[in-house]
Amino acid sequence: MDVFKKQEFNINTTFEKHESNVRSYCRNFPDIFQRAKGSIIYSESGREYIDFLAGAGALNYGHNNDFIKQKVMSYLDADGVAHGLDLYTSAKQSFLAKFSELILSPKKLDYKIQFCGPTGTNAVEAALKLAKKITKRPGIFSFMGAYHGMTLGSLSVTGNIGVKAGAIGASNQVTFMPYPYGFMETFDTIEFIDSVLNDVNSGIEKPSAIIFETVQAEGGIVVAPIAWMQRLRNLCTQHNILLICDDIQVGCGRTGPFFSFERADIVPDMVILSKSISGYGFPMSLLLIKPDIDIWKPGEHSGTFRGNQLAFVGATAALEYRESNNLEQDVKIKEFFLKNFITKEIASISEKIKVRGLGMIWGIDVAKFGGGSLAKQITSRCFELGLIVERVGRDDSVIKILPPLTIEIPILQKGCSIIKQAFEEVISK
Ligand code: PMP
Repeated sequence: MDVFKKQEFNINTTFEKHESNVRSYCRNFPDIFQRAKGSIIYSESGREYIDFLAGAGALNYGHNNDFIKQKVMSYLDADGVAHGLDLYTSAKQSFLAKFSELILSPKKLDYKIQFCGPTGTNAVEAALKLAKKITKRPGIFSFMGAYHGMTLGSLSVTGNIGVKAGAIGASNQVTFMPYPYGFMETFDTIEFIDSVLNDVNSGIEKPSAIIFETVQAEGGIVVAPIAWMQRLRNLCTQHNILLICDDIQVGCGRTGPFFSFERADIVPDMVILSKSISGYGFPMSLLLIKPDIDIWKPGEHSGTFRGNQLAFVGATAALEYRESNNLEQDVKIKEFFLKNFITKEIASISEKIKVRGLGMIWGIDVAKFGGGSLAKQITSRCFELGLIVERVGRDDSVIKILPPLTIEIPILQKGCSIIKQAFEEVISK
C-alpha cells in the first residue's frame, strides 16, 4: 500500500507539475511503467499489466522481442551509424533488400519507398502533398470516422471534430464522404461518390486523391467490406484519382497478411506504413509510391530524421522474424479465439452490444448499451484488474482489443477474461 502511495505522489508531483496538459494515454492508465516483455508491462511498484494497447499498434512483435533486440544490440555494439539523415547506409540497404525480398516481390507489388519523418503523420503529409503535385488538384476526399494524424494536413483529413478544434481552417479542401458504417451500411456510398463526381453541379471538385483505412481503427474498429474496397479502387481508376491507403495501424500483419488491403486484392497508388514497421517501437514511417508517380524532386520532402538507422535494423529483423515464425498463420489462430470469445462471452450479454473486427484488432461497441461512460468504467476496472485496454470511436464507446500479435494464448485468454469480469462487475452495480 505504501508503494502505491509513493507512486501517486510521483504522478501528482513530477508529471502533473512538469508535463503539458496535452498528455492523454497516461491519464487513463495512471501508473509509472518501467519495463516490459512480450505482452506484459511492469510498473515501478512491480504491478504486472497485460498489454492490449500495444503502443497503439506499434508493438505487433511485443515488447523487447528477443530476436529483434539481439540484432539491434549487435548493431549498437559494432558502433553502427546511429544517425545518417538519408545517406546511403548499410542498415538502410539491408532493409530495402529485405522488404523487397519478403514483402514486395512475393506479392508482385511494384513500389518505390520514401522514408519520411519518423511519425505516421509525416508520411500522410507526404502522400497528400505528392497527390496534389501529381494531379495539380487541391482537393482530397476522406471518410467520416477517419483518423490520419495530428499535423495540419493529416488533421484536415481526420474526421474527429473535437481534435480539430485547435486547428482552425484545417479541412478547407477536404470533402468527407460516408464510410460504410452505421446507417450508411445500407446506403451505396461508392455510388454516391460516383454521382458527386459525375454531377457538374455538385459543387464538389474532383479531388487529387481519396485517402482511406481498410479498418477505421481510431474510428471505432469499422471494417470496410471487400466489395466496397474493390469498387473504391475502380472508382479511383475511372476518375483518374489517386488512391491512398493509410495502413499505419492495421498494416504490418495486424489483420493477418502484411498489408491490410490484400484481403480485397487491390493495389493502392500509395500506401502509408508506420507504427509496427520498425518492429521494436522505434519511430519510422514510410510511403510506398507506384514508380510512375514518384515525381518528387530530390529533397522536396526533406527532414532530419528520415530513416532512423536503429529502426532500419529493427525493421529488417522484424521481417525475418515474421517470416520464420509464420506470424500470418498465428494471427489466424488468435483471430479465431478472439472472435469466438468476444462473440460468445461478451456480445451475448446484450444484443445492444456490437462486436467488430478481424485479425487481431477487435472492438466491443457499447454505444447503445451505456455509451462512453460505461466503456470508461469497464476499461478503468480492467486496469485495476491488470489489463491495459483503450477506448476508441464516437464518444469513446468502443473498447479496442489490440494485443501484440505475438501474445501467448494463455495471456490472451487471461486478458479477455478480465474484460468479461469487468463487464459483469460494472453492469451488476
Ligand atoms: N493514421 C492512422 C490510421 C493511425 O492509426 C495513426 C496513429 N494512431 C496515424 C495515422 C498517425 O500516426 P502518428 O501518431 O505516428 O503520427
